[in-house]
Amino acid sequence: MKKIRVGIVALQGGVSEHAYMVRRAARNLGIDCEIVYVKHAENLNGIDALILPGGESTTIGALMARTGLLKPLKNLLEAGETPVLATCAGAILLAKRVVDKHVGEVKQPLLAVMDFEAVRNYFGRQRESFETPLRVRLDGGEVSVRGVFIRAPAFTKVWGRAESISDFEGVSVAVREGEKIALAFHPELTSDTVIHEYLLRKALG
Ligand code: GLN
Repeated sequence: MKKIRVGIVALQGGVSEHAYMVRRAARNLGIDCEIVYVKHAENLNGIDALILPGGESTTIGALMARTGLLKPLKNLLEAGETPVLATCAGAILLAKRVVDKHVGEVKQPLLAVMDFEAVRNYFGRQRESFETPLRVRLDGGEVSVRGVFIRAPAFTKVWGRAESISDFEGVSVAVREGEKIALAFHPELTSDTVIHEYLLRKALG
């Protein structure tokens, strides 16, 4: 069977958690899989799927700009062929418009490749972190997941080719556009590999 190469953007944030989940998902599916830690543009060559982890979107964006990863990564994402999973800060970086719940419009380096607006820190101080059951609409139908939210964004506007695939309290918390899915929550911090298995299946084609 074909070997799948999964790139994980590894500048800051929850990198090892995603790597662990990718390995478990690959084992569950019986797929041969290699993890590529993406720190520079050349690491993008030959990857079959890409993960943008959570962390701090301002820090990850600034590091992408400094390492020269921003442009080549944006080109790869715009080409739209590679399956992508982005969580939390990673999802913020993919939004075409980003505002902060408290300070409004923010200036930060973005990849800006998906048709949605992300409001950073949407769920406010009191509920900076919480867990809730969610339903997510994937190709094969709806799945139940445990939504782990950590200073999470919400996706307040979705337009164009993008569609919301999960809602919580009247706002979108997951968006899909073509081969890319952006989640406000953290499946890598649960024991459930369903989302990572979805990504690997997409990479298999
Ligand atoms: N609040 C962070 C940001 O705006 C995201 C938090 C996370 O990734 N868990 O970048």
